[in-house]
Amino acid sequence: MDFQLTDEQKQIVDLVDELGRKEFAEKAARWDENHEYPWDNIHKLRKCDLLGMTIPEEYGGQGRPLIDAILAIETAAKYCGVTARVLVETNMGALGCVMAYGTDEQRKRVAGRILNEGDKPAIGMTEPEAGTALTDLQTRAEKNGNKYVINGTKHWITGGGISVTNLIFARFFDAGNDLGIGGILVDKGTPGFTFGTVERAMGLRGIPETELIFENCEVPDANVVVKADGIEGFKNLMYGYNGQRVGASAVALGIAQGAHNLAIDWMKKRKAFGRPISEFQGLQWMMAEGEIKLNAARLLIYRAACNARDLPNNVKLPYMDESSMAKAFTGHAAFEVVSESLQMFGAYGYSQDLPLERMLRDVRMFQIGGGTTEAQMNMISRSIFKRKFDLRN
Ligand SMILES: Cc1cc2nc3c(=O)[nH]c(=O)nc-3n(C[C@H](O)[C@H](O)[C@H](O)COP(=O)(O)OP(=O)(O)OC[C@H]3O[C@@H](n4cnc5c(N)ncnc54)[C@H](O)[C@@H]3O)c2cc1C
Repeated sequence: MDFQLTDEQKQIVDLVDELGRKEFAEKAARWDENHEYPWDNIHKLRKCDLLGMTIPEEYGGQGRPLIDAILAIETAAKYCGVTARVLVETNMGALGCVMAYGTDEQRKRVAGRILNEGDKPAIGMTEPEAGTALTDLQTRAEKNGNKYVINGTKHWITGGGISVTNLIFARFFDAGNDLGIGGILVDKGTPGFTFGTVERAMGLRGIPETELIFENCEVPDANVVVKADGIEGFKNLMYGYNGQRVGASAVALGIAQGAHNLAIDWMKKRKAFGRPISEFQGLQWMMAEGEIKLNAARLLIYRAACNARDLPNNVKLPYMDESSMAKAFTGHAAFEVVSESLQMFGAYGYSQDLPLERMLRDVRMFQIGGGTTEAQMNMISRSIFKRKFDLRN
């Protein structure tokens, strides 16, 4: 067991940290206030070869292990949560499913868009009547010759309307027979695929959360990424999705670390009763607790990323139980750390003139999106008691 970063990993962290300090930090409020997608930052990340770092070399990427992308995500999130989220979705998420289960042509197409255009693939799972109970989803993909006809509505889809690549979870039918849940690619611009409500979200406002509407939307059967096959298709989609959960945890960790660092600097300068507030033991202990939470979260995240297991096509993605533990712990801990960091600033922390209130709104998401904390607890329990299928293996 080695807790040291390699020289190359240190270089990645230093590069992203420099971008964060010089570019991302000052623009973070702009994406939030204007609900603007952070294209400037995405172009920078693309030029620095940080988008799609995990894409194998044969598809134009660098084939870096997941942990390298996690380090970049965590570092970027200290300065800008939405930018870090783009790093997640260009390194894991739908990409993980496509790389593990897709065809060679799909892998080339999706990788090329990320690397050449900065496209952030979207993943369309949630429906108005199927969130945590995802297997209740009603979107239909019905076979018609060599095409699938898709009907249904997804909501709260990150990047909906911007992403060209959209991996849609649907219930597949052939000649009226329900084959189970599978995943299919639908490109932006396909006739019958439109966008509805854009949510008025609490935080992370630089990326739209959008309704995706499918009305007799025809896509070639060559777009099927994960075949519906009873429970197998759904299982495979979830295995492909585990990387996203670890990536999301790294965003939460980075936001919390960023807030914690701001609080430490402030506490050394801010005086009360003639002394810097960093000298009050009650506050020191709050910060010490924060330090423990951040380090515990980091260990869970790094373990889940490094302990990745083999999926088809030499793809390595985390185990379900380890990614759920990382997400459940970090989502909660990061929210507490940001809230306590804000507390150190008193009224200044509550003002939009400082980034703390935005960071608090942003970090709250990670107890909900990507599967709620309660859903993660259910999966961890399932893995302990081996109910249904063994999620770990
Ligand atoms: C900012 C943001 C971005 C998102 N991005 C995406 C995206 O890109 N793609 C996508 O597909 N979805 C996305 N989502 C949707 C997200 O995955 C769902 O919101 C989440 O899975 C919860 O579903 P729900 O909102 O329908 O809540 P519900 O499932 O209705 O849950 C309501 C409450 O009940 C609890 N609950 C439900 N079932 C159980 C149970 N069995 N045991 C204990 N508690 C339970 C939940 O934990 C929650 O607290 C996003 C959401 C947000 C907020």
